[in-house]
Amino acid sequence: MSTLTYESALEKYDPVFGIEVHVELNTATKIFCGCANQFGSAPNTNVCPVCIGLPGSMPVTNEKVVESAVRLGLALGCSIRESSRFARKNYFYPDLAKDYQISQYDEPTCYDGELEVVLDDGEVVTVGIERAHIEEDAGKNTHVGGSGGIQGADYSLVDYNRAGVPLVEIVTRPIEGTAERVAEVARAYVATIRDIVKAMDISDGRMEQGSLRADVNLSLRPKAADGEDQSAVPFGKRSETKNVNSLRAIERAIHFEIVRQAGLLDAGQPVHQETRHWHEDTGETTSGRSKEEAEDYRYFPEPDLLPVEPDAAWVESLRGTIPEHPAKRRARLQEEWAFSDLEMRDAVNAGALDLIAATIAAGATPASARKWWLGELARTANDAGTSLDGLAIAPAQVAAVQAMVDEGKLNDKLARQVIEGVLAGEGEPSEVVAARGLEIVSDDSALEAAVDEALAAQPDVLEKIQSGKVQAAGAIVGAVMKATRGQADAGRVREIILQRAGVNP
Ligand code: ZN
Ligand code: MN
Repeated sequence: MSTLTYESALEKYDPVFGIEVHVELNTATKIFCGCANQFGSAPNTNVCPVCIGLPGSMPVTNEKVVESAVRLGLALGCSIRESSRFARKNYFYPDLAKDYQISQYDEPTCYDGELEVVLDDGEVVTVGIERAHIEEDAGKNTHVGGSGGIQGADYSLVDYNRAGVPLVEIVTRPIEGTAERVAEVARAYVATIRDIVKAMDISDGRMEQGSLRADVNLSLRPKAADGEDQSAVPFGKRSETKNVNSLRAIERAIHFEIVRQAGLLDAGQPVHQETRHWHEDTGETTSGRSKEEAEDYRYFPEPDLLPVEPDAAWVESLRGTIPEHPAKRRARLQEEWAFSDLEMRDAVNAGALDLIAATIAAGATPASARKWWLGELARTANDAGTSLDGLAIAPAQVAAVQAMVDEGKLNDKLARQVIEGVLAGEGEPSEVVAARGLEIVSDDSALEAAVDEALAAQPDVLEKIQSGKVQAAGAIVGAVMKATRGQADAGRVREIILQRAGVNP
C-alpha cells in the first residue's frame, strides 16, 4: 500500500472531479402513477401496476415533477429544452421490476447551467452544469445475513416503494483548477445544491435518508510544470464513487481516491475506469464494476409517454419563483442583521438561519433571535438529539417570549421557564405565563412590602446602606428575589430599597 499523503499526492498530481447528484423530489405522488411518494412506509405498500411495471400498465407524467425540475434547472442557470423525450435505460437489477429505468438521455429538460459555490473563506468557484434531467428512482434491495452484499447474503429483500419516486439528476462538467481545495469545493457544491432544493421546497434534501445522493468522479493528471498550462494536460482515467451520502463522506472519499490513485500512478500502474463503493466505516472505497458506457444501456425513446414540452410562458412564470441563491441570501442577511462572520457561521451550521429570520419577522431583534436559537434552544435540541426545526416551538412563540422580556414582564430566568413550558406542550407563551404564574411582580406595593420585610430582617444591612455603602443593597435584592421566587425586576427592587433607606439612587 502506498505511503503517500494527501498533501504529497497533490504536489505531484492535479485533480479533476465531477459530481452527479440525484435529488428526490417531494411531490405528493410518484412520477408516472398515483402512488404516494412517501419515505418510511411499510415495504411494498406504495405500489401499483405502473411502478412495478406489470404488462399493459401505462405511465402518465406527473406535472408537478416537471414543474419542480424546471424550477431547479432555472435555479442552476440552465436553459430549458422546449421538447424532451423520455428514454428507456435498459438494465437488469432486482430493484427495477421493468428491467429499464425511464430517464432522459439525449434530450435532458435542463442543460448548460452554472452555479456559484461559496467556500468558507468567501472564495467563489463557478461550477459548470452539463445537464439536469428527470428520471424515476428504482426500488431498494436489502441483503440479509451471510457475508453481506448481493453476492454474500443468505437472501435479499426488495421494497418497491421507492420505484417511481421522481428524481432530478444534476451532472456537472469536469471541475478543474481546484488543486488542494478539491474536497472542500466538492463538499460546498453538494451543500449548495442541498440548500437550494430545501429553499425551493422541492426536496427535503436529507442525505441520510437518501433524498439527495452524490456520485463523485475523480481523476488525476500530472501537475503541469511552472508556467505551463495545466488545462492542456489531458485528463487521467477516472473512478466513480457511488452513493456518498453525507457532506463529510464526500470529502473523505475524495481524500481516499486521491491517495489511492496517486499511489497507482507513482507505481506505474494504471487507474481503471470503474465504479467504486464507499465504506463509511473504514473511510475507503472498493472496486465495483467496470464502468459501463452509454451504449451498454441500449437507450431508446420511451414509446408510452408524451415528450415533456414546458410552455415558454409557464417557464417564465416559474422563473419568478426562484429564491435568491443561498450564498447571496446569507451575505445579505449577515449585513442586515449585523452578525459577525463567526456568528453567521454558527447560525448556518446550526441550521438556524430560517428560524432566526422568522423570529425577526415576528418582531424580535436579530441579536435576541440569535441568542435564543443558538443558546437555550440549541442546548435543548442537542440534549434531545434533534435539530432546531424539530423542536416544538415556533419562531413567533420565541418572538412573543422576547417581547415580554422587552416589556419588562419577564426576566431572563422566567423567560427560559416560559420557553420550557412551550416546548413541553403547555400552550402559547401567554398561557404558560398564566398557568405557571411566571409574570414578574411589577406591582410596586407588593415589592415594597417584600423590601420592608427584608430590611427589617437585616437591620445591619440597612445601616450600612444608610452610611453610604450602597452596594450592601445587593443582599436585600437577593432576599426579595428569593421571596418572590425570582419574579421581581431586580432593578426596580434596588430602586425601592434605596428609596426606603432614604438614599439617593
Ligand atoms: Zn404506482
Ligand atoms: Mn441517474
